[in-house]
Amino acid sequence: MTPERYAKILRVLSHRQPTLTVLMDEVNKPHNLSAIVRTCDAVGVLEAHAVPPSHGTLATFEGHTYDATSGSAHKWVGVQSHSDAISAVRELQGKGFQVLATHLSQRSVDYREPDYTRPTCVLLGAEKWGVSDEAAEAADQNIIIPMFGMVQSLNVSVAAATILFEAQRQRLAAGMYAQPQLTPEELARRAFEWGYPDLAPAYRERGEAYPALDEQGQIAG
Ligand code: SAM
Repeated sequence: MTPERYAKILRVLSHRQPTLTVLMDEVNKPHNLSAIVRTCDAVGVLEAHAVPPSHGTLATFEGHTYDATSGSAHKWVGVQSHSDAISAVRELQGKGFQVLATHLSQRSVDYREPDYTRPTCVLLGAEKWGVSDEAAEAADQNIIIPMFGMVQSLNVSVAAATILFEAQRQRLAAGMYAQPQLTPEELARRAFEWGYPDLAPAYRERGEAYPALDEQGQIAG
């Protein structure tokens, strides 16, 4: 790894927001999944969540289907799988996240109203069916991007980007990108995995801690 590459990895990791995420509920078109993950990378989402679509035929990466539009973002944003949306919502709430379901209901508010500096998960629905009433009910709040056109909804990746960049705006204003949100240990661990993707699995398999890196990103000692 070159020193420049290491510096970039450290810079990106120091902007990652472990308390901001999305839950994609059966988003089934690979280009949408890819576009959402690419936006997650740009905004600083550390890890995304997904209920994989029940049927998929294209090549997958760690159980999820991407296409070339991800710009390799899936290498930098992990996607954790869940069996169903309700249990995923409950699990995330159990970890302290407010879940904001993108869903039109009696209690929907404009997507700019919630406080995105809180640990937040944005629940996104499948292209055809959207977020189920049950999952929207289980969420802490329902949010909507106001629509004034002839069509009723946006493409799911466009909706995700609109909402995530509002979260970024609020978090920038609150100084949440000014200092690392990851612990030093977590940051060092990720830096090794990103910088040495070929070596990291062997350390994990042997149950060994990753070696320390020097200031240039070389394995110390
Ligand atoms: N027929 C579906 C429905 O009734 O919900 C439309 C789904 S829409 C094409 C796919 C997803 O994009 C939605 O589940 C939601 O996550 C997101 N989305 C689209 N338009 C939105 C909007 N105006 N506000 C919030 N989310 C939106």
